[in-house]
This record gives sequence, C-alpha cells and structure tokens, in this order.
Amino acid sequence: MSMNEIDVISLENEMDLVLAHKRSLNLGQKLGLTLATCTTFATAISEIARTVIEHTNNGSLSIGLVPVDQRFALSGRFTFGSPERFVPADGYFYAQKLVPEFSRIEHDGITIIELRIGIPRSINLNRAKITALAAYFKDAPPINAYEEIKKRNRTLNRIAEEKEEELKRSKIIDQKKTEFISVASHEIKTPITVIKAYSQMIKVMKEGCSDQVKSIVDKIDGQTSKLLALVQQLLDVSKFENGHISYQMERVQIGDLIADMVAVMKHITPNHEFRVSVIKDIKVSIDKLRMEQVFSNLLGNAAKYSRKNTVISIKAGVDTQGFAQISVSDQGIGMNERDIRSVFEKFYRSDDVLNSHAGLGMGLYIASKIVTDHGGRIWVESTPGTGSTFHFTIPASS
Ligand code: ADP
Repeated sequence: MSMNEIDVISLENEMDLVLAHKRSLNLGQKLGLTLATCTTFATAISEIARTVIEHTNNGSLSIGLVPVDQRFALSGRFTFGSPERFVPADGYFYAQKLVPEFSRIEHDGITIIELRIGIPRSINLNRAKITALAAYFKDAPPINAYEEIKKRNRTLNRIAEEKEEELKRSKIIDQKKTEFISVASHEIKTPITVIKAYSQMIKVMKEGCSDQVKSIVDKIDGQTSKLLALVQQLLDVSKFENGHISYQMERVQIGDLIADMVAVMKHITPNHEFRVSVIKDIKVSIDKLRMEQVFSNLLGNAAKYSRKNTVISIKAGVDTQGFAQISVSDQGIGMNERDIRSVFEKFYRSDDVLNSHAGLGMGLYIASKIVTDHGGRIWVESTPGTGSTFHFTIPASS
C-alpha cells in the first residue's frame, strides 16, 4: 500500500536517532494515540534506526499513514543499501517484537523494512486531516540545532544541484552555438574563396578590361579578403572553444617579426605613422603565423580606433622576469574602466564603437588565447580620449 508520507529523516549518525524518536513520538501524539502506543512505536523506530545507522551510511526513514481495510496504520519505512547481515545484538530484532506488523523486503541490493501499528477506528482520519498533518510537520520548527543545520544543509545542497544543472544546460547550449558557428563558417568560406579566385583571375586577364571594371574588381577582391578574414576569425573562435588548436613552434627574432608586420601594416594603413623601438636579439619560440595574427589584430585596432595621421608605436624589450614584452600604443579614442576589464572577452565590443566602427569583437579574444597558449600574458592600459597601449609577454627563448 502506498504511504501518505508525513516526514522523512535521513539516517546519517547517532544524532538522527533523536530526530527519528522525537518525530515518531510526536506523530503518534498528534494522532491522539495512547502514550503507550506512541512510546512503543517511537522505541521500535529508534531501535531499527540505530541498527541501520550502525550498518549502513545511506539509510532513510519515512513516517506516515498507510490505508489498510478502511482504516489507517501508523507506519515507519526504512530504506537502505543491504548490509552484510544484522546480528542478534542489533535493536532490529528487539523492535520486531514490539510492533504487531513487521516486514522486510530485499530487492536489487536495497532493503525496505516497514513496521506498522493500526490506528483505532475511533480516531477519525481523512484526506484533509492527513494533509494538515503533513503540513504541520513540514513547517514544524527544528527539534534541535542539529536538525536546523541538517535542514540548511539540505537546502544548500538543493541549490547547489540546481545551479549545477543550470550550468550544465548553459554549457550544452554554448557548445551547440560553437558547433553552429563552426559549420556555418565552413559553409560560408567555400563560396567566398571561389569569388576571390574569380576576381583574381579577372585581374590578371591578358585581354584587359576597362579601368572602371578594373576598379570594381579591385573592390570585390578587397571586400572578399575582409569577408574571408572574418570567417577565418569565426572558425578560430570555435577551434579555441573546442581546444582544437595546435601550434607549430619555431625560434625567431622578435625584431624581425615586428619589422615584417610593420611593413605590411604601412601598406594597409598608409595614413598612420609607425614608430618602432626594439631591443635587438630577443629570441622567442613561437608559432609564427599565430603570432602574426596577434600583431595584425593589435596594429589593426590601433589604426582602426585612432584618427589618420596619428602615431602608432611598437616597443619590444625584456621584462623583469626575462619575458619578451611587446607594447603597441596608439593616440586614439581610448577606453573606459569597464572596457579595459572586458575587451579580451569573446564578442565584447565597447558601447562607444558599436555604431561607429565595424567589427565582431573576436580579434582580442583570439589574440589573448594565442598569447596565453604561448605561456604569456596580455593586458591593456588606456585613457578615454587619449589612447591605449596593449602589452603582451612571451617567454624569451634562451
Ligand atoms: P573588434 O575590433 O572587431 O570589435 P576586437 O576583439 O579586436 O574586436 O576588439 C574588441 C573591442 O575592444 C573593440 O570593439 C573596441 O571596443 C575595443 N578596442 C580594441 N582595440 C582598441 C584600441 N586600440 N582603442 C580603443 N578601443 C579598442
């Protein structure tokens, strides 16, 4: 028969014996049973509870009412992982003699012991009364400090479980989003590559075409390059998310790399003045292509977020811990405290640039991943309206 559960007590240690005893005694009293019946029930419950606590560490006790032949029986049901075996000294054997009905079932390594005492018909019980009784026990103040702590602990555990579940769900959603970005970028990349190939074919066609057509094809070529770079960034983001990045390390002079990068940037942004100050002979072990990505992001941003004809400086030296430290400074729009804290987060863009500058907020996220994967650090110093300096370090190679 299914039980109308009034209270549940987990049986973890001796302190729970007190709870099991008091709660079962209290239930008998609330039902209006005689003192002798209440005491018998509570004693049998505590004896079995003691046995369960001694032999297992996963027991629980439900006390409640079970309908039997138009009447109700007061019931205590113990559930626990089956122990080796009980011994005669265990209160379990004594308890069996106290109550009129006693049963023990074992199934799949779980033992259920139930003991019952019939409730006289004169005590008129109905659904409403049972519900009220359950509500009373649910709201009853804790019997002692131990129960109070136990209750709080249970609430904390529940909250922790809910939070963990929430976290799991949001991780799954995030993973799906990353997968989608990866698949979508691959699909987009293929036709863009074809467009780029065709536009380059037109550019080198011998027969030639009018200046007007040439200039249009140049624009198509330029824009497809931009699109390809964006799609590549999207692919990189998902690669970093999935941990699918591998690095091909080689030893290079950081000064040579900076010189190459600045030469390219001068071509792309001819209206900025680049000033380079590099201490010679700093060797680093890096993935050159990935590190070029870091430089082109920092230099590109320095140009993008500052006016024409301003200065962009690049410095490289060795910090106090022997790391190569590279700094890229601009005289641009700068950023506020909140931006400084968040610019390396995925997809973060300052409110100040949302409507004025194109971008997706991926470059610095990728740059920071590349730098930290190399064992370095990246950070920014900035003053709104004055400019920004991005610094990063990479272990110097001996
Ligand atoms: P994007 O430039 O595509 O938005 P990034 O990840 O490279 O993405 O940069 C993130 C944000 O950081 C930018 O949107 C901008 O708000 C800010 N930022 C980056 N570099 C600079 C800079 N040199 N000066 C001012 N703000 C910058």
